[in-house]
Amino acid sequence: MSNHWTHLTPHLAIFHGPGNTGVLHDGSRAVLIDAGDGAVVPYLAELGVKTVAMALFTHHHRDTAGAAEILAGGGTGVVVPAGERQWFEEVTAFWNDPAYRWHLYNYRPSHLMLTAPVRVDRALADGDTLDWGPARITALATPGHTDGGMSYIVEVDGHRVSFSGDLLYDAGQCWELHSLQKGVVTDWDYHGFLGAREAWSASLRRVLTEQPDCLAPSHGRLMADPPTAVRLTEERLSAIYANYLAASTVRSYFPQSFPHPADALPIHPELLRVLETMPRHPDGRVFHGPWGGVLKPDTVRRVLIDAVLTPLKDKFPGQPGFRNFTHGRLHSFRHFFCSKCATDGVPEQVVMRWLGHTSSRMVQHYYHLHDEESQRQMNKLTSVGGPITAS
Ligand SMILES: [Zn+2]
Repeated sequence: MSNHWTHLTPHLAIFHGPGNTGVLHDGSRAVLIDAGDGAVVPYLAELGVKTVAMALFTHHHRDTAGAAEILAGGGTGVVVPAGERQWFEEVTAFWNDPAYRWHLYNYRPSHLMLTAPVRVDRALADGDTLDWGPARITALATPGHTDGGMSYIVEVDGHRVSFSGDLLYDAGQCWELHSLQKGVVTDWDYHGFLGAREAWSASLRRVLTEQPDCLAPSHGRLMADPPTAVRLTEERLSAIYANYLAASTVRSYFPQSFPHPADALPIHPELLRVLETMPRHPDGRVFHGPWGGVLKPDTVRRVLIDAVLTPLKDKFPGQPGFRNFTHGRLHSFRHFFCSKCATDGVPEQVVMRWLGHTSSRMVQHYYHLHDEESQRQMNKLTSVGGPITAS
């Protein structure tokens, strides 16, 4: 017997080749799960298998289902997820559609499509079961890696093994991240990084509810502790996504997807004194538009330019070729506020909260070290023998 095998139960083995293939065997017959490129076939004789009765596939990717065409040609029944049936049978339509050859932000379906169409014998829907020899196989819809992907729970010899395709690679790891790209706004959205993460996460938890004693991925390592494998993955997933959001413009493009926490910003005592001199309005608003309605940001911008920047521009001439006073906008106040906080020693964590940033890199972007402040910081340094004195 070659060293390609892990024997999970008397009737269930995993072949480790370029990928993993589940082999459910009963006498001279077998069922293959995710046959990959078919590397398993010459080794089946080591289990006494002469006939492959059925080949199940968790999803349509070429690296997982490339052997489907050859197996079907040899009389094996091909079984696929109902949601991906067309990506086995109508491959030609996919490759002939230019929409799938360009703008490859779209991984749904993936360009890891099969190269030739395959006749499908049976398409399984969520919850469908198949009894074969000593085993029962239950199909679970587990989208994430692909939209129509499935896991197969195999119950045999008193064990429950979940064949989950490429949902997981190992505890806390996935096979790759790009297949989780999914448009939020359009089908091939540039901003779809980890767009399938919620579906993916839900699928991982769904697999756990089946209480498998082992997760068998089509790429990666067998996982004997499924709850820990899933928990680690979810922890890392949220860390990766938070990190992405901290540096991404996606928040400003789609603010509706990121409701701000109801955090209060404290009022400075000097501002409070000014506010207290102002009349109170029954609608609760402090400022109003020129006709008494809600003040629009564009009106404020116009007033700033017409009533402040333009009349005062001669007092602050600046230098030709450099940004100057007249380039100031409302956003400049945010920069100024952040610089002022830094100068006055407000801790960075507090500034981050006030500005609503999750990363100190954004705060640093606003922090402009003025010459005067730079000098003040330099003056704070002491020499080894005591304060430096001018000589
Ligand atoms: Zn895949």
